[in-house]
Amino acid sequence: MGFSTRQIHSGVEPDPLTGAILTPIYQTTTYVQPSVDEYLSKGYSYSRSGNPTVRALEKKLTDLEGGADTTCYGTGMAAINALYLALLNAGDHVVVSDVVYGGTYRLSTQVFARFGVSFSFVDTSSQDAVRAALRDNTRLILTESPANPTMKLTDLAAISAIAARHAIPHAVDNTFLTPYFQRPLELGADYVIHSTTKYFDGHNATVGGAVVAKTAEQDQKLRFIQNATGMIMSPQVAWLTLQGCKTLSVRMERQSENAQAIAEFLAGHPKVAQVCYPGLPDFPQRELASRQASGFGAMLWFEVAGGLAAGKRLMDTVELWSLAENLGSLESLITHPATMTHADVEEAERQRIGITDGLVRLSVGLEDAEDLIAALDKALAAL
Ligand SMILES: *Cc1c(COP(=O)(O)O)cnc(C)c1O
Repeated sequence: MGFSTRQIHSGVEPDPLTGAILTPIYQTTTYVQPSVDEYLSKGYSYSRSGNPTVRALEKKLTDLEGGADTTCYGTGMAAINALYLALLNAGDHVVVSDVVYGGTYRLSTQVFARFGVSFSFVDTSSQDAVRAALRDNTRLILTESPANPTMKLTDLAAISAIAARHAIPHAVDNTFLTPYFQRPLELGADYVIHSTTKYFDGHNATVGGAVVAKTAEQDQKLRFIQNATGMIMSPQVAWLTLQGCKTLSVRMERQSENAQAIAEFLAGHPKVAQVCYPGLPDFPQRELASRQASGFGAMLWFEVAGGLAAGKRLMDTVELWSLAENLGSLESLITHPATMTHADVEEAERQRIGITDGLVRLSVGLEDAEDLIAALDKALAAL
Protein backbone atom coordinates (compact mmCIF):
# COMPACT_ATOMS: atom_id res chain seq x y z
CA MET A 1 0.00 0.00 0.00
CA GLY A 2 1.01 3.61 -0.44
CA PHE A 3 2.79 5.77 2.12
CA SER A 4 -0.26 7.81 3.16
CA THR A 5 -2.29 4.66 3.81
CA ARG A 6 0.53 3.09 5.81
CA GLN A 7 1.26 6.22 7.87
CA ILE A 8 -2.34 6.00 9.13
CA HIS A 9 -2.89 2.26 9.50
CA SER A 10 0.51 0.59 10.10
CA GLY A 11 1.14 -0.57 13.63
CA VAL A 12 -2.30 0.22 15.01
CA GLU A 13 -5.34 -1.98 15.40
CA PRO A 14 -8.66 -1.24 17.09
CA ASP A 15 -8.32 -1.79 20.86
CA PRO A 16 -9.20 -5.48 21.42
CA LEU A 17 -11.18 -4.68 24.59
CA THR A 18 -13.40 -1.80 23.39
CA GLY A 19 -12.85 -1.28 19.67
CA ALA A 20 -11.41 2.20 20.32
CA ILE A 21 -9.97 3.25 16.95
CA LEU A 22 -7.00 5.04 18.53
CA THR A 23 -4.47 2.93 20.43
CA PRO A 24 -5.06 3.75 24.12
CA ILE A 25 -2.38 5.38 26.27
CA TYR A 26 -1.35 2.36 28.33
CA GLN A 27 -0.45 4.32 31.47
CA THR A 28 0.87 1.50 33.63
CA THR A 29 4.12 0.39 35.20
CA THR A 30 3.51 -3.32 35.23
CA TYR A 31 1.47 -6.09 33.63
CA VAL A 32 -0.21 -8.82 35.69
CA GLN A 33 0.92 -12.27 34.60
CA PRO A 34 -1.59 -15.14 34.31
CA SER A 35 0.71 -17.56 36.16
CA VAL A 36 4.39 -18.13 36.85
CA ASP A 37 4.57 -20.57 33.96
CA GLU A 38 2.84 -18.14 31.60
CA TYR A 39 5.15 -15.21 32.41
CA LEU A 40 5.34 -12.84 29.40
CA SER A 41 2.61 -14.75 27.54
CA LYS A 42 1.07 -11.39 26.52
CA GLY A 43 4.47 -9.90 25.65
CA TYR A 44 4.80 -7.32 28.43
CA SER A 45 6.39 -7.42 31.89
CA TYR A 46 7.32 -3.87 33.01
CA SER A 47 7.09 -0.54 31.19
CA ARG A 48 10.87 0.02 31.01
CA SER A 49 11.07 -3.12 28.86
CA GLY A 50 7.99 -2.48 26.74
CA ASN A 51 4.67 -0.65 26.52
CA PRO A 52 1.84 -1.29 24.04
CA THR A 53 1.39 2.40 23.06
CA VAL A 54 5.10 2.77 22.38
CA ARG A 55 5.06 -0.56 20.55
CA ALA A 56 2.41 0.72 18.14
CA LEU A 57 4.67 3.66 17.23
CA GLU A 58 7.68 1.36 16.85
CA LYS A 59 5.76 -0.80 14.40
CA LYS A 60 4.59 2.22 12.41
CA LEU A 61 8.10 3.69 12.08
CA THR A 62 9.49 0.26 11.13
CA ASP A 63 7.02 0.03 8.29
CA LEU A 64 7.54 3.61 7.07
CA GLU A 65 11.36 3.25 6.94
CA GLY A 66 11.30 -0.36 5.72
CA GLY A 67 13.36 -1.80 8.61
CA ALA A 68 13.20 -4.97 10.72
CA ASP A 69 12.25 -3.22 13.98
CA THR A 70 12.46 0.08 15.87
CA THR A 71 13.29 1.24 19.39
CA CYS A 72 11.86 4.56 20.61
CA TYR A 73 13.51 6.87 23.14
CA GLY A 74 12.81 9.96 25.23
CA THR A 75 14.67 12.23 22.79
CA GLY A 76 16.58 12.10 19.52
CA MET A 77 19.82 12.44 21.52
CA ALA A 78 18.90 9.37 23.60
CA ALA A 79 18.44 7.48 20.32
CA ILE A 80 21.98 8.39 19.21
CA ASN A 81 23.30 7.63 22.71
CA ALA A 82 21.69 4.16 22.54
CA LEU A 83 23.21 3.49 19.12
CA TYR A 84 26.68 4.49 20.39
CA LEU A 85 26.27 2.31 23.51
CA ALA A 86 25.10 -0.65 21.41
CA LEU A 87 27.99 -0.48 18.93
CA LEU A 88 31.04 1.08 20.62
CA ASN A 89 33.67 0.07 23.14
CA ALA A 90 36.64 1.95 24.59
CA GLY A 91 39.33 2.20 21.91
CA ASP A 92 36.88 2.29 19.02
CA HIS A 93 36.74 4.98 16.34
CA VAL A 94 33.75 6.59 14.63
CA VAL A 95 33.50 8.58 11.41
CA VAL A 96 30.84 11.29 11.68
CA SER A 97 29.66 13.89 9.14
CA ASP A 98 31.48 17.14 9.90
CA VAL A 99 28.19 19.02 9.75
CA VAL A 100 25.80 17.39 12.21
CA TYR A 101 23.22 18.43 14.74
CA GLY A 102 25.06 20.30 17.53
CA GLY A 103 23.92 17.78 20.14
CA THR A 104 25.46 14.89 18.17
CA TYR A 105 28.78 16.75 18.10
CA ARG A 106 28.54 17.44 21.84
CA LEU A 107 27.62 13.83 22.74
CA SER A 108 30.61 12.61 20.71
CA THR A 109 33.27 15.10 21.79
CA GLN A 110 32.23 15.79 25.38
CA VAL A 111 30.76 12.47 26.53
CA PHE A 112 31.92 9.45 24.51
CA ALA A 113 35.43 10.87 24.05
CA ARG A 114 35.78 10.63 27.87
CA PHE A 115 35.22 6.88 27.62
CA GLY A 116 38.00 6.31 25.10
CA VAL A 117 36.04 6.50 21.86
CA SER A 118 37.65 8.67 19.17
CA PHE A 119 35.82 10.54 16.43
CA SER A 120 36.78 11.92 13.03
CA PHE A 121 34.47 14.64 11.74
CA VAL A 122 34.70 14.23 8.01
CA ASP A 123 33.18 15.85 4.94
CA THR A 124 31.01 12.83 4.12
CA SER A 125 29.95 14.44 0.82
CA SER A 126 33.39 13.23 -0.33
CA GLN A 127 33.77 9.46 -0.70
CA ASP A 128 37.55 9.86 -0.76
CA ALA A 129 37.47 11.72 2.55
CA VAL A 130 35.40 8.93 4.12
CA ARG A 131 37.73 6.20 2.76
CA ALA A 132 40.78 8.11 4.01
CA ALA A 133 39.30 8.48 7.50
CA LEU A 134 38.66 4.76 8.05
CA ARG A 135 40.93 3.00 10.53
CA ASP A 136 41.27 -0.61 11.65
CA ASN A 137 39.23 0.25 14.74
CA THR A 138 36.43 2.18 12.97
CA ARG A 139 33.16 0.67 14.20
CA LEU A 140 30.54 3.12 12.90
CA ILE A 141 29.95 5.66 10.15
CA LEU A 142 27.29 8.20 11.13
CA THR A 143 25.99 10.59 8.50
CA GLU A 144 23.32 13.27 8.46
CA SER A 145 21.80 14.27 5.12
CA PRO A 146 20.73 16.98 4.58
CA ALA A 147 23.00 18.19 7.37
CA ASN A 148 21.75 20.54 10.07
CA PRO A 149 22.02 23.45 9.37
CA THR A 150 24.15 23.85 6.20
CA MET A 151 22.01 21.45 4.06
CA LYS A 152 25.12 19.67 2.74
CA LEU A 153 24.19 16.25 1.35
CA THR A 154 25.92 12.89 1.68
CA ASP A 155 25.55 10.30 -1.10
CA LEU A 156 23.94 7.68 1.13
CA ALA A 157 24.19 4.78 -1.34
CA ALA A 158 27.90 5.46 -2.02
CA ILE A 159 28.79 5.72 1.70
CA SER A 160 26.71 2.60 2.46
CA ALA A 161 28.70 0.72 -0.19
CA ILE A 162 32.02 1.85 1.33
CA ALA A 163 30.78 0.88 4.81
CA ALA A 164 29.63 -2.55 3.61
CA ARG A 165 32.98 -3.22 1.92
CA HIS A 166 34.70 -2.64 5.29
CA ALA A 167 31.96 -4.39 7.32
CA ILE A 168 31.28 -1.18 9.25
CA PRO A 169 27.67 -0.26 10.02
CA HIS A 170 26.34 2.95 8.46
CA ALA A 171 23.77 4.94 10.44
CA VAL A 172 21.88 7.84 8.88
CA ASP A 173 20.15 10.64 10.77
CA ASN A 174 17.05 11.05 8.56
CA THR A 175 15.36 13.71 10.69
CA PHE A 176 15.29 16.44 8.02
CA LEU A 177 13.55 14.52 5.22
CA THR A 178 11.66 11.69 6.98
CA PRO A 179 10.87 8.40 5.20
CA TYR A 180 8.26 10.24 3.15
CA PHE A 181 11.05 11.84 1.11
CA GLN A 182 14.10 9.64 1.81
CA ARG A 183 14.57 6.01 2.91
CA PRO A 184 18.23 5.33 3.80
CA LEU A 185 17.74 1.58 4.44
CA GLU A 186 16.69 1.16 0.80
CA LEU A 187 19.95 2.90 -0.15
CA GLY A 188 22.00 0.38 1.86
CA ALA A 189 22.25 1.92 5.34
CA ASP A 190 22.04 -0.26 8.47
CA TYR A 191 20.31 2.12 10.89
CA VAL A 192 18.07 5.16 10.58
CA ILE A 193 17.96 7.68 13.42
CA HIS A 194 15.14 10.12 14.05
CA SER A 195 14.42 12.95 16.35
CA THR A 196 10.65 12.29 16.39
CA THR A 197 10.44 15.73 18.04
CA LYS A 198 10.59 17.17 14.54
CA TYR A 199 8.40 16.04 11.61
CA PHE A 200 6.90 12.85 13.08
CA ASP A 201 5.34 14.81 15.95
CA GLY A 202 5.11 17.94 13.82
CA HIS A 203 3.05 19.90 16.35
CA ASN A 204 5.72 21.19 18.77
CA ALA A 205 4.17 18.96 21.43
CA THR A 206 6.80 16.37 22.38
CA VAL A 207 10.46 15.45 22.35
CA GLY A 208 11.30 11.90 21.29
CA GLY A 209 13.63 9.76 19.24
CA ALA A 210 13.88 6.45 17.40
CA VAL A 211 16.37 4.07 15.82
CA VAL A 212 15.08 1.87 12.99
CA ALA A 213 17.34 -1.17 12.48
CA LYS A 214 17.78 -3.10 9.26
CA THR A 215 17.96 -6.48 11.03
CA ALA A 216 16.24 -7.98 14.05
CA GLU A 217 19.63 -8.83 15.53
CA GLN A 218 20.73 -5.16 15.42
CA ASP A 219 17.42 -4.17 16.99
CA GLN A 220 17.88 -6.70 19.81
CA LYS A 221 21.21 -5.08 20.75
CA LEU A 222 19.52 -1.69 20.94
CA ARG A 223 16.62 -3.11 22.95
CA PHE A 224 19.07 -4.61 25.45
CA ILE A 225 20.79 -1.21 25.87
CA GLN A 226 17.42 0.48 26.20
CA ASN A 227 16.29 -1.81 29.00
CA ALA A 228 19.71 -1.77 30.70
CA THR A 229 20.03 2.03 30.70
CA GLY A 230 16.37 3.02 30.99
CA MET A 231 16.23 5.29 27.94
CA ILE A 232 12.59 4.91 26.96
CA MET A 233 9.78 6.90 25.40
CA SER A 234 6.70 7.52 27.56
CA PRO A 235 3.26 6.26 26.39
CA GLN A 236 1.85 9.82 26.22
CA VAL A 237 4.67 10.93 23.92
CA ALA A 238 4.19 7.81 21.78
CA TRP A 239 0.45 8.51 21.55
CA LEU A 240 0.93 12.11 20.42
CA THR A 241 3.62 11.04 17.95
CA LEU A 242 1.30 8.34 16.55
CA GLN A 243 -1.27 11.04 15.78
CA GLY A 244 1.40 13.25 14.17
CA CYS A 245 2.56 10.41 11.90
CA LYS A 246 -0.89 10.10 10.34
CA THR A 247 -0.56 13.45 8.53
CA LEU A 248 3.17 13.27 7.77
CA SER A 249 2.89 13.06 3.97
CA VAL A 250 0.43 15.94 3.73
CA ARG A 251 2.52 18.16 5.99
CA MET A 252 5.78 17.31 4.20
CA GLU A 253 4.23 18.12 0.82
CA ARG A 254 2.77 21.45 1.87
CA GLN A 255 5.69 22.54 4.04
CA SER A 256 8.16 21.85 1.24
CA GLU A 257 5.95 23.72 -1.24
CA ASN A 258 6.00 26.66 1.16
CA ALA A 259 9.79 26.33 1.51
CA GLN A 260 10.23 26.39 -2.27
CA ALA A 261 8.16 29.59 -2.53
CA ILE A 262 10.07 31.25 0.32
CA ALA A 263 13.47 30.20 -1.08
CA GLU A 264 12.54 31.69 -4.48
CA PHE A 265 11.34 34.92 -2.82
CA LEU A 266 14.57 35.25 -0.81
CA ALA A 267 16.75 34.42 -3.84
CA GLY A 268 15.23 37.40 -5.68
CA HIS A 269 15.47 39.87 -2.77
CA PRO A 270 18.16 42.58 -3.02
CA LYS A 271 18.86 42.54 0.73
CA VAL A 272 19.58 38.80 0.77
CA ALA A 273 23.21 37.84 0.09
CA GLN A 274 22.79 34.08 -0.21
CA VAL A 275 20.06 31.42 -0.01
CA CYS A 276 20.56 27.68 0.30
CA TYR A 277 17.69 25.30 -0.47
CA PRO A 278 17.99 22.01 -2.39
CA GLY A 279 15.01 23.01 -4.57
CA LEU A 280 16.81 26.06 -6.01
CA PRO A 281 18.58 25.63 -9.37
CA ASP A 282 21.91 26.87 -7.95
CA PHE A 283 21.99 24.31 -5.09
CA PRO A 284 25.45 22.73 -5.50
CA GLN A 285 24.28 19.11 -5.04
CA ARG A 286 21.03 19.43 -6.94
CA GLU A 287 21.51 16.18 -8.92
CA LEU A 288 22.15 14.15 -5.74
CA ALA A 289 19.19 15.80 -4.02
CA SER A 290 16.88 14.62 -6.80
CA ARG A 291 18.47 11.18 -7.05
CA GLN A 292 18.31 10.02 -3.43
CA ALA A 293 15.20 11.81 -2.19
CA SER A 294 11.76 12.41 -3.64
CA GLY A 295 11.44 15.93 -2.17
CA PHE A 296 13.59 18.82 -1.00
CA GLY A 297 12.13 19.24 2.49
CA ALA A 298 11.20 22.37 4.39
CA MET A 299 14.53 23.53 5.82
CA LEU A 300 16.63 26.29 4.31
CA TRP A 301 19.08 28.98 5.29
CA PHE A 302 20.00 32.41 4.08
CA GLU A 303 22.34 35.29 4.86
CA VAL A 304 21.22 38.87 4.94
CA ALA A 305 23.40 41.47 3.21
CA GLY A 306 25.02 43.23 6.16
CA GLY A 307 25.97 40.00 7.91
CA LEU A 308 25.45 39.15 11.55
CA ALA A 309 24.15 42.52 12.78
CA ALA A 310 21.49 42.74 10.08
CA GLY A 311 20.63 39.07 10.51
CA LYS A 312 20.12 39.51 14.25
CA ARG A 313 17.88 42.53 13.68
CA LEU A 314 15.80 40.49 11.23
CA MET A 315 15.46 37.54 13.64
CA ASP A 316 14.51 39.86 16.51
CA THR A 317 11.88 41.81 14.57
CA VAL A 318 10.30 39.47 12.04
CA GLU A 319 6.62 38.78 12.73
CA LEU A 320 4.92 35.38 12.52
CA TRP A 321 8.25 33.49 12.52
CA SER A 322 9.03 32.44 16.10
CA LEU A 323 12.65 32.76 17.19
CA ALA A 324 13.13 29.29 18.63
CA GLU A 325 15.05 26.02 18.51
CA ASN A 326 13.27 23.01 17.03
CA LEU A 327 12.20 22.39 13.47
CA GLY A 328 9.63 20.47 11.51
CA SER A 329 6.59 21.82 13.30
CA LEU A 330 3.43 23.41 11.91
CA GLU A 331 4.64 26.72 13.32
CA SER A 332 7.35 28.36 11.22
CA LEU A 333 10.54 28.91 13.20
CA ILE A 334 13.60 31.09 12.69
CA THR A 335 16.88 30.08 14.34
CA HIS A 336 20.42 31.40 14.65
CA PRO A 337 22.51 28.19 14.67
CA ALA A 338 25.80 29.86 15.75
CA THR A 339 24.33 30.95 19.10
CA MET A 340 21.47 28.45 19.45
CA THR A 341 21.49 24.89 18.07
CA HIS A 342 25.24 24.76 17.35
CA ALA A 343 26.62 26.92 20.18
CA ASP A 344 28.64 23.96 21.51
CA VAL A 345 30.59 23.62 18.26
CA GLU A 346 33.84 25.58 18.69
CA GLU A 347 33.99 28.82 16.67
CA ALA A 348 36.90 27.68 14.45
CA GLU A 349 35.13 24.40 13.65
CA ARG A 350 31.89 26.28 12.88
CA GLN A 351 33.73 28.55 10.44
CA ARG A 352 35.46 25.55 8.82
CA ILE A 353 32.20 23.71 8.12
CA GLY A 354 30.26 26.76 6.98
CA ILE A 355 28.06 27.62 9.96
CA THR A 356 28.81 31.32 9.61
CA ASP A 357 27.66 33.86 12.20
CA GLY A 358 25.34 35.40 9.62
CA LEU A 359 23.56 32.12 8.77
CA VAL A 360 19.82 32.32 9.49
CA ARG A 361 17.97 28.97 9.49
CA LEU A 362 14.31 28.68 8.59
CA SER A 363 12.03 25.78 9.44
CA VAL A 364 9.08 26.41 7.18
CA GLY A 365 5.72 25.52 8.66
CA LEU A 366 2.18 25.08 7.48
CA GLU A 367 0.92 28.66 7.46
CA ASP A 368 -0.02 30.34 4.17
CA ALA A 369 3.14 30.94 2.13
CA GLU A 370 1.98 34.47 1.26
CA ASP A 371 1.80 35.40 4.96
CA LEU A 372 5.22 33.92 5.69
CA ILE A 373 6.70 35.80 2.73
CA ALA A 374 4.96 39.06 3.67
CA ALA A 375 6.42 38.86 7.19
CA LEU A 376 9.96 38.31 5.84
CA ASP A 377 9.47 41.07 3.26
CA LYS A 378 8.45 43.55 5.96
CA ALA A 379 11.39 42.66 8.21
CA LEU A 380 13.84 42.88 5.30
CA ALA A 381 12.42 46.24 4.22
CA ALA A 382 13.03 47.62 7.73
CA LEU A 383 16.74 46.73 7.69
C1 LIG B 1 16.89 17.78 16.85
C2 LIG B 1 17.82 16.86 16.19
C3 LIG B 1 18.42 15.82 16.92
C4 LIG B 1 18.24 15.63 18.41
O1 LIG B 1 16.92 15.33 18.75
P1 LIG B 1 16.24 15.77 20.15
O2 LIG B 1 14.89 15.17 20.04
O3 LIG B 1 16.26 17.25 20.20
O4 LIG B 1 17.08 15.17 21.23
C5 LIG B 1 19.24 14.94 16.22
N1 LIG B 1 19.47 15.09 14.91
C6 LIG B 1 18.91 16.09 14.19
C7 LIG B 1 19.21 16.19 12.73
C8 LIG B 1 18.08 17.00 14.80
O5 LIG B 1 17.54 18.00 14.09
